Amino acid sequence: MTRFSAWSVFKAGLSGQKNWDRQWRDPEPRPEYDVVIVGAGLHGLATAYYLGKNHGAKNIAVLEKGWLGGGNAGRNTTIIRSNYMMPGNRQFYEHSLKLWENLSHDLNYNVMFSQRAHVSLFHSPAARDAAARRYNLMRLTGSDGEFWDLARLKKEIPHLNYNHARFPIIGAAVQPRAGNARHDAVAWGYARGADRQGVDIIQNCEVTGMEREGGKVVSLQTSRGSIGVKKVGLAVAGNSSRLWQMAGLGRLPIETHLLQAFVSEPIKPMLDQVVVYGVGGAHFYISQSDKGGMVFGGDLDWYKSYAQRGNLPLVQDVSECTTAILPCLSRVRLLRHWAGLMDMSMDGSPFICKTPLGNLYLNAGWNYGGFKATPASGWYFADLIANDRPDPTIGHFDLNRFSRGANIDERGAGPDPKLHG
Ligand SMILES: Cc1cc2nc3c(=O)[nH]c(=O)nc-3n(C[C@H](O)[C@H](O)[C@H](O)COP(=O)(O)OP(=O)(O)OC[C@H]3O[C@@H](n4cnc5c(N)ncnc54)[C@H](O)[C@@H]3O)c2cc1C
Repeated sequence: MTRFSAWSVFKAGLSGQKNWDRQWRDPEPRPEYDVVIVGAGLHGLATAYYLGKNHGAKNIAVLEKGWLGGGNAGRNTTIIRSNYMMPGNRQFYEHSLKLWENLSHDLNYNVMFSQRAHVSLFHSPAARDAAARRYNLMRLTGSDGEFWDLARLKKEIPHLNYNHARFPIIGAAVQPRAGNARHDAVAWGYARGADRQGVDIIQNCEVTGMEREGGKVVSLQTSRGSIGVKKVGLAVAGNSSRLWQMAGLGRLPIETHLLQAFVSEPIKPMLDQVVVYGVGGAHFYISQSDKGGMVFGGDLDWYKSYAQRGNLPLVQDVSECTTAILPCLSRVRLLRHWAGLMDMSMDGSPFICKTPLGNLYLNAGWNYGGFKATPASGWYFADLIANDRPDPTIGHFDLNRFSRGANIDERGAGPDPKLHG
């Protein structure tokens, strides 16, 4: 496979761009694998990549019921940040951000990571005090964070509604190293990287059942036949409860909800940063894509569902949030909106853990925030599968944390959207 470089792009230009290789193979499933990862989203592909790269694992397959990157991987608003406070959680997301900073080089694939800054507006002195505590802690533990007063904010982002906002803006907490990346490119980059290490990525291969023997999974039933397994990792996001039931393990503390995203028609560059705010029941985030579209989103839909489609009440809700903060967008037309299946855990935090079955491992519960977690999630999940024990950084990301009262995220907001504002 071609290694991308300025020279390879130039050379391909000389032949009229006709000689590009396939970026990954399309193999037939083998009868058995040492490790099977279910789900070719970002987390499944990253796990397969790091299994090969960090642990030298061989004979790995990733099974995907549709096409790779067709789930939440291809549906998210691509915000990347590490502005968390609690021990464990902070280190996890900071490790992720550091991996993002070198990801294009590591994968030899441009994931278009743009560190354009993540700007969290605040609207009251109390919110400013809470943000000060969090951002000071981030700085003390090796991350970055700044406070912008109103004068600085007006200079950096002149279009915000500073005059007639229902909740007046008084400043912002900013993480300059945060930003966005191109979601498809991340999925494709990891797929290409995994394929280069011999991983079989098998698309159109739905797992429909699991056969167990002596407390282990011995084979997976799939739409392309039965596949024997030595170890299985689940990375199926909103379908986690379904796979959990196939393993005969009952119920997971996860509910599947929809989260929608929206993109406007392209307009001239007007917003350099990612801007977020949450106040008075509103929850909103917006950035501008390289093509000029305004990409934005808000809360979950207020019911559980497996249907990957949007609905009109959320269009209204999110449009109101948009015009409240950026009234200059009120006549910009909405181009598209869509939904993804969120695996909402009861405390809003993920699971990367062993399960009651000896060779089954779980990666789930990413809620709204799994895109930014992708590199660290793949890194630690691969480590767990390879070494059969969790790294201390993800020690609390287990299923028993509820009985221990372990708190991972400072907000601890689970699937109830009203708690996310
Ligand atoms: C609208 C929206 C906006 C978001 N915005 C952000 C954001 O700005 N920042 C952020 O950090 N996160 C964001 N997220 C969250 C993030 O996208 C997800 O947490 C993350 O993508 C989930 O991991 P994944 O990519 O592995 O999931 P997916 O891409 O959903 O991968 C799971 C895969 O498993 C496959 N699968 C399911 N069942 C089976 C089966 N039985 N057999 C085989 N394959 C199966 C699915 O087809 C799917 O491809 C957003 C999500 C949505 C929906």
